Amino acid sequence: MINIVLFGPPGSGKGTQAENLIEKFNLKQVSTGDLFRFNMKNDTELGKLAKSFIDQGSLVPDEVTTDMLIDEVKKPTDTNGFIFDGYPRTANQTNALENIVKDVLNAEISVCLSLVVDDEILVNRLLHRGKTSGRTDDSNEEIIRNRIKEYYAKTAEVAELYKKQGKYVEVNGVGEISEIAAQLFAEVEKIK
Ligand code: ADP
Repeated sequence: MINIVLFGPPGSGKGTQAENLIEKFNLKQVSTGDLFRFNMKNDTELGKLAKSFIDQGSLVPDEVTTDMLIDEVKKPTDTNGFIFDGYPRTANQTNALENIVKDVLNAEISVCLSLVVDDEILVNRLLHRGKTSGRTDDSNEEIIRNRIKEYYAKTAEVAELYKKQGKYVEVNGVGEISEIAAQLFAEVEKIK
């Protein structure tokens, strides 16, 4: 099994590159952001709760997010493994994921691939995406900056945990989409 954590700040290109990786290696993507957006669109209880955090640019509480992720990992799939996109975002979620992958899949996280992009480029990308995405959290610079602040306050430490396990690999997230994909593919080939 190949189980990839796709890591990086908001706007670093995780969603775009997850699509490339899924196709290349036949993986299932689990994007907590997409799952929340699906629930918000359908106005579920989970969606309503998530919206109150997402619209501020804050993280949704760990327990809520992790329960949603467990449901997704438990669904049967015939893929070669998983791409976790947008999860884990805290140290607590990192430990939870380790246990979920072990207990549910009898497997391990293979690698944490981290897309590195400068903050000012992130803000520009997200403001640009906001013009067409309809995402409320992309629509205003203050919310975007709060998401980046949350990333440094709570999420950056996830990288340290994977570094300690020797599973952390950085890839430059600025440049041609296809070139970035090629670098990610090469990293996955190494662990296959
Ligand atoms: P981006 O990476 O562009 O910020 P996502 O689509 O991954 O966007 O996530 C959008 C929002 O959903 C986040 O700002 C956060 O509020 C919430 N969210 C997504 N994943 C998590 C998570 N693992 N833990 C807590 N909140 C999350």
